[in-house]
Amino acid sequence: MSEMTDAVRMDKVTKAYGELKALDELDLVVKQGEWVSIVGPSGSGKTTCMNLIGCMDRPTSGVVEISGLNLANMNENDLTRVRREQIGLVFQKFHLIGHLSALENVMLAQYYHSITDESEALAVLERVGLAARATHRPSQLSGGEQQRVAIARALINQPPLILADEPTGNLDAANAAAVLELFAELHTQGVTLIVVTHDPSVAARGTREIVLDHGTLVRDSVLR
Ligand code: ADP
Ligand code: MG
Repeated sequence: MSEMTDAVRMDKVTKAYGELKALDELDLVVKQGEWVSIVGPSGSGKTTCMNLIGCMDRPTSGVVEISGLNLANMNENDLTRVRREQIGLVFQKFHLIGHLSALENVMLAQYYHSITDESEALAVLERVGLAARATHRPSQLSGGEQQRVAIARALINQPPLILADEPTGNLDAANAAAVLELFAELHTQGVTLIVVTHDPSVAARGTREIVLDHGTLVRDSVLR
């Protein structure tokens, strides 16, 4: 695949719930290596957009491509494979498995992707500052620590695209700063980041900010 393939391409994407259009003919191209902040009022379609890019939902009409792969041509197994191979998901609700340790939660993502490697899983926990908590279960971790486990899980398979929906929404200032530092490091490494946030200081860290309103793109600005 060419270096220049766009990370994400959405072409006239509509997601309708009855009369309501959560997304209304949205066009969006994200280049590889961009760090896109998505902002907009509650109900403007931000999560719907992330779910479509994250292969967790299908549009009512329009085309979504991830790394040049047209999702419309894919069955559920194909979509699951794209999600596991191309995308790291960091959502506000952590969706960690309660009876597994931090390390096991990360290794489960390895298992689904390819094969498990405990030393690699430990290394990624170390990278998010959680090596000392590897054997703890989610209930034994703070909200910030759980979020960092979820990020470790998203990073373990080195996806080229990270999708984060309100990644700092549940975090105190110190943990939010740590998450943003990690995103900055990933950005430096060429990872594409798409981050939904209500927080202007989080949005400002991106290289580009888009504003959604009523399912349409109402502003698109280059930040740096
Ligand atoms: P945001 O993340 O920007 O707050 P969402 O993408 O969650 O917005 O929602 C966009 C619109 O779509 C909202 O009006 C919401 O109520 C509606 N919506 C989202 N998911 C569903 C669903 N599963 N069924 C019906 N309406 C939905
Ligand atoms: Mg949302």
